[in-house]
Amino acid sequence: MGLTDPRLHLFAVQGASYAVSTDYLRFAGIAPEAAEAVRRGGPAGPVLNRLGVPLEPPGQKGFRFAPPDTLVLMLTYACNMACRYCCQGEIPAARENQMSQAVAYRAVDWLMRNSADAETVNIGFFGGEPLLRFPLMQEIAAYADRRASAAGKRVRYGIMTNGLLLTEPVIDFLAANQVQVTVSFDGPAAVQNRNRPLKGGGRSFRLIAGRIRKLLARCPDATLRSTLYAGTDPDLVLQTARRLGFRQCRMEKVSSSLLAEGKKNDEAASSGQMAAHLRRQGERFLAAARERDAAALQRIAVDGAFMEVVRQMFQLARAGAPVRRRWFSCGAGRQLLAVAANGDLYPCPRFLALPEYRLGSVAEDGFRGELHHKSLLIHSEDCRSCWARYYCGGGCVVEHLGRTGSIFRANPDTCRLRRARIETGIRVFAECSDDDRAFLHEIGVLPGRQA
Ligand code: SF4
Ligand code: SF4
Repeated sequence: MGLTDPRLHLFAVQGASYAVSTDYLRFAGIAPEAAEAVRRGGPAGPVLNRLGVPLEPPGQKGFRFAPPDTLVLMLTYACNMACRYCCQGEIPAARENQMSQAVAYRAVDWLMRNSADAETVNIGFFGGEPLLRFPLMQEIAAYADRRASAAGKRVRYGIMTNGLLLTEPVIDFLAANQVQVTVSFDGPAAVQNRNRPLKGGGRSFRLIAGRIRKLLARCPDATLRSTLYAGTDPDLVLQTARRLGFRQCRMEKVSSSLLAEGKKNDEAASSGQMAAHLRRQGERFLAAARERDAAALQRIAVDGAFMEVVRQMFQLARAGAPVRRRWFSCGAGRQLLAVAANGDLYPCPRFLALPEYRLGSVAEDGFRGELHHKSLLIHSEDCRSCWARYYCGGGCVVEHLGRTGSIFRANPDTCRLRRARIETGIRVFAECSDDDRAFLHEIGVLPGRQA
């Protein structure tokens, strides 16, 4: 069956060959001759045997879904900045909407009732700029803590902020409530000032950088989230993140699908750029691991998207690890729901501009989640036939929708990037010796020890 055998994916980097079981999440470096034999039409069986996986495809999964445990609250559509890629301005008839205290409390009550026996529930504060509603945020946290304690649950909080309103009282609140803070900030001064100006056009880098340093002194696990346009150098973004003191920086390419005409990003170019960056990180990581260069590895470990895939592959390759196929990439429309300012429920914040995806309201129990309970690995032709499906889970449905017009037709640019990430993670795992791995665990770049 050779190259067309759907059970096997082969790839090569710098003369080294790798084999990937598409169904059983096993992978390894193999002799180039063995890969070549399969490419020439030889049987895949010997390579699959080398990976230690069954030759038969797995049976179809019967799903069991957990109840919703996470609500992201759209506290306001207003913002104090004017980022060039912001999509909130396109939300129909909602520009000035503010969530009322009554709606916020109803959302909390909805979460307590609809999260069944989940012991921990999550509330995210989102906007616009959610810190424009700081008093409401404090009221919500006090109310949710009371309601959770009565229901025998605990609440974890998160916020996505542009950082401009990180004042001392705000930081006190975030630290006291152990809020997981994500700061949207694009890194080098020139890029931040260009992409994320203040309302009215002023520069924002210096102003926000000072606030970030104060935040990190109290909330050291805050994450930087940087949105990348094609042409922005990811290394410079990471350098800025480290200088500011972030332990984790997540870079995401800007999603063209959400942008107005005239603001579009070149998605193919930015996906290619990110993929090249991840491959470079892989080579640097391997070199640093071989040289036992802990400082270099700690620097690379700030790169959240890169480390996520490396950790995923080390986890999957653990001796005796169960085969955990990923049927979804995220919890949107199932465990996670976004609450619009008026109380309407949506699959996630990025759907808020799309009224046809409304799933219900916090005024009534339950929600219409059927569409989002369909795994793309079953219902999308693209994902069904993709070698990376069980590693990927089907990608971001908003990105698919924005690009192809359907959540069931995959966005080819994001797919190229996702597959490049997975291959990078596999190469990093396969090229690390046992001693390299022990070192990575020892210095804490990888959690725990392998079984
Ligand atoms: S989203 Fe793309 S990369 Fe992921 S499984 Fe589907 S086709 Fe493959
Ligand atoms: S659908 Fe996309 S944007 Fe929404 S939660 Fe999932 S991955 Fe994130």
